[in-house]
Amino acid sequence: MSPIQTAPEAWGFDDVPPEGIERECDVCIVGAGPGGSAMAMQLSEAGLSVIVLEEGPPKSDFRLNQAHTARIHMQEAGTMLAQGPTPFLIAAGRGIGGGSLINSALCFRTPDHVLEEWVEVLGDNRWSPSNMAPVFNEVEAWTGVGLPTSAYAAGRHNVAIAEAAARLGYEGGLARRNTPGCVGCGACNYGCPVNGKATVNLNLMARAGQAGTRIQADTKVLDVLIEGGRAVGVSGVTRRDGSDGGAVTVRARHVVLSAGSIGTPRLLHHCGLAERMIDVGEGLLVHPGSAVLASFDEDMDVAQGATQGAWFESPDLPGVLPHAWCSPPEVLTMLLARHFGGFKEVTPHLRRIGGILALVSDHGHGSVSAFSDGRAKIGYSFTDEDITRIQQGMVLCAEVLMEMGATKLFPIAHGVPATSDLAEFSAAMMATSIRDFTLYSSHPMCTMRLGRTLDGRGHAIGVEGLSVADASVFPSSLGVNPQISTMAVATVLGRELASQLTGLRPG
Ligand SMILES: Cc1cc2nc3c(=O)[nH]c(=O)nc-3n(C[C@H](O)[C@H](O)[C@H](O)COP(=O)(O)OP(=O)(O)OC[C@H]3O[C@@H](n4cnc5c(N)ncnc54)[C@H](O)[C@@H]3O)c2cc1C
Ligand code: SF4
Repeated sequence: MSPIQTAPEAWGFDDVPPEGIERECDVCIVGAGPGGSAMAMQLSEAGLSVIVLEEGPPKSDFRLNQAHTARIHMQEAGTMLAQGPTPFLIAAGRGIGGGSLINSALCFRTPDHVLEEWVEVLGDNRWSPSNMAPVFNEVEAWTGVGLPTSAYAAGRHNVAIAEAAARLGYEGGLARRNTPGCVGCGACNYGCPVNGKATVNLNLMARAGQAGTRIQADTKVLDVLIEGGRAVGVSGVTRRDGSDGGAVTVRARHVVLSAGSIGTPRLLHHCGLAERMIDVGEGLLVHPGSAVLASFDEDMDVAQGATQGAWFESPDLPGVLPHAWCSPPEVLTMLLARHFGGFKEVTPHLRRIGGILALVSDHGHGSVSAFSDGRAKIGYSFTDEDITRIQQGMVLCAEVLMEMGATKLFPIAHGVPATSDLAEFSAAMMATSIRDFTLYSSHPMCTMRLGRTLDGRGHAIGVEGLSVADASVFPSSLGVNPQISTMAVATVLGRELASQLTGLRPG
């Protein structure tokens, strides 16, 4: 079946009247990102009746405008801030498709060494590399993960990075992506204007819809209904044109939370259910990242070609994963103005700027709960080891940029001068403190861990009838971009839950 399908016409309920509606089903899923979509497909194709409630809009609302994307397609309008020694923004997607709508489409399987760690921690061989390989094959086929991006779609910036990294002997190259129809417009983080990206609304959730799942967008879940210590449904509210509409209540035999690594613990803390559970929101990991920019004598055109279409890694720096950097021109202008003496002065140079972003597989201490108004309250502090690896990762990025022919390096860190000298860059970078960095994360994970907050099947310890299936369930950091892992893990948990609820396996 094609990874890009047309969504069924009538996905949701009929109009929700002001007095609200109540529905019943076997399983109610909260959140329609990669985790919720994979779960919905497994359950509905097993014959269960499924309702999905999603806070964001029913389809991609593409505009080449960051403010619009943040308002429509990012949770909390792109303002989720992790507080700690270095506050940084955490990005998460919103809408039918969740993060896949606005992500860069890089596709990595969970590394074998991470799966082996899960087998050990959970005492469960289901997660072994050999058992998971067929699941990754399926997920990649459903979501159109193809060969590495073609040089045509990749564009010159990605190609230059891949070639320079190869010359230095680093593993990597042009990335595998779930973009069968990519024309290389560089706009993945706004949504895809040509449906070239096989986002999960176009495959996993479309299949769930074809198998009978009702998918209600614009509906924010506010509470998990508990009777006799057991989850029996959820309640929430629809939103229309920015204001609250009617109340929605869904009663279900089983509830699955797939609201993402921030959204799931945020909901549980806000509705008070976290108190009955273990370590909800604790253990947040984020893959913190920062970038080095550089100027060149030739055009790099970072805003054209596949968004983040190249990657590499050094055997001397495990746990550091550099990717091509991509940003809209307005962000580039802001970051570089101080180096060029003003905003106007940067503009003529924009086409000749390139950059590389490195993310780090972290071991920090993070947590997610909720403020009284329901927004996420996020804390994160870094370990010394992670800080060193962020610094070393920046030096690795700088080395590859110099190999590409950079004429000057522009770090996004205070106290490190713009320089053409790699040794000077490296010395200044290794002398920084974590407070000097501008960091960013779009990979929150591990806040509802299997084996700690959840049992091995993804069921909440302490509350019957409640499961989780999203990037929050990973028992440890992945070290690679998480969408494929999220879908694969949710597929395994979905099959297990389907067997249990259809009576093929005892609950
Ligand atoms: C800008 C960006 C770039 C990225 N690039 C890549 C990449 O290249 N490759 C990769 O592998 N990964 C990438 N990621 C990460 C990847 O997209 C996420 O790891 C993945 O989407 C996580 O899936 P999920 O199901 O856990 O949660 P999400 O995708 O966050 O989905 C959760 C859904 O739940 C909804 N929700 C939340 N709370 C509620 C509520 N109370 N009621 C109803 N609905 C609710 C949200 O609106 C959202 O749609 C990127 C992410 C971002 C933001
Ligand atoms: S680079 Fe452009 S065409 Fe390619 S998948 Fe991303 S948004 Fe779509």
